[in-house]
Amino acid sequence: MTKPKIAILTSGGDSPGMNAAIRAIVRTGLHLGYDMYGIRQGYYGLIWGNNLYYDKNYNFFEKDGDSYYCIDYERKRFLAKQKNQAVKLYNQESTHFRYNNHFIKKGKFLSLDPQLERELEFTSNAYIHQLFQQSVDGIISEGGTILGSARCNEFKLKFYQKMAERNLQKLGIENVIVIGGDGSIRGALALSKLKTLKGENLKVVAIPGSIDNDIGCTAITIGTYTAVNTITNACNNIASTASAHKRVFVVEVMGRHCGYLAISSFVATGADYVLFAESGTVPQKEIKSLIGKIKHDFSLSRQKKRFLIIRSENYPVTSLELKHKLDRAFKNSALKIGVRVTTLGHVVRGGPATSFDRLIACRLGAASVYLIHQNETCKMVGWIGYGKFKRMKEDPGVGYWDIKHVLNETEKIKQNKTPYVANRNRAYHALGMLLSE
Ligand code: ADP
Repeated sequence: MTKPKIAILTSGGDSPGMNAAIRAIVRTGLHLGYDMYGIRQGYYGLIWGNNLYYDKNYNFFEKDGDSYYCIDYERKRFLAKQKNQAVKLYNQESTHFRYNNHFIKKGKFLSLDPQLERELEFTSNAYIHQLFQQSVDGIISEGGTILGSARCNEFKLKFYQKMAERNLQKLGIENVIVIGGDGSIRGALALSKLKTLKGENLKVVAIPGSIDNDIGCTAITIGTYTAVNTITNACNNIASTASAHKRVFVVEVMGRHCGYLAISSFVATGADYVLFAESGTVPQKEIKSLIGKIKHDFSLSRQKKRFLIIRSENYPVTSLELKHKLDRAFKNSALKIGVRVTTLGHVVRGGPATSFDRLIACRLGAASVYLIHQNETCKMVGWIGYGKFKRMKEDPGVGYWDIKHVLNETEKIKQNKTPYVANRNRAYHALGMLLSE
């Protein structure tokens, strides 16, 4: 008898700890009697599956038995229909026109002339492959994700979702675990509406993996605290050189929709000021008060040796604009204050996960498989957070929610309308300011 199958994909921005989650999923799944599959490059790999061929002109074909199906024809027809355009496929010079003409007229599976078959190259990328115990040996200590990740806007379109459905059906996969940020979880919702060969909906469970901690319901996303750790280490180094020269340093950290990295590292690094969008302050006033604090801290009465500002990527005044404003403010000052900017960028995304992230990833990874085993679908597992949630009986520290509810809450976080998050921001901000006096 064939075993039930679970596939895993990692999508969107990668985060440290994804590998620990993959390992936990694979080992728990095998333990519970599943065959495990990995999908490379997120939703992109799911769309293209294992049957992708392309010719010299990068027209894509899918193989089915001895026949090839011109995917591009369907794809271009679909896109053209959307734009209300007539379909124009290949130019007349194309060596394949003879065959393509045939494809266009029939639009169905066809056997190819051997000459054309020779011209088709099988991509070395078979995107969906089976995972075994040994496939995940040693990966817990590696950063990034062994499955690779991708941003794939095509997956938002029904046509491509159908291609994904076909690939999963071909392999008899009925369960998928998605690890990623809010976009990926949105993709998981779309995925849960696709059908299996039996005509049932796919079972889908999501795990929040993002360094930004910007997902609703869960208190923590996998990767956040490794990122805070990396920022802290970088700031330790910056603080030494800043002290040596009595400088102001603006350290920019990631966080497109959520300033959590900025405010948590503000407290953890012992920085002197934090700028993040959710504070809701008027930038002009905020910068005025920042200038006042710098002057006070470098004054003879306080004598600080350095001044560290953590600026979140989401703050409306850019780091360079801020530097110009500070330079201008201190131009004629006797204090001779130099201002430097460091953008940590992707450095913060990389590196092996800290033990805390590995622990969370292992627990959420195992929980996601248990949920599938219990016939649950369209759920996200998370670290116990706020609001109502169900606890995993195997691990009461892990909660789970409906994906739709998670997505609503995530939207609220982006709009700064979640009391739990707002209170947390306020508390961290107040504490950081107090401790930087
Ligand atoms: P993250 O998951 O880190 O937030 P993105 O927002 O880029 O990253 O989303 C990752 C991927 O999730 C997208 O490239 C796309 O493949 C998929 N995705 C995002 N939104 C949707 C949607 N509304 N429907 C289907 N798939 C989506």
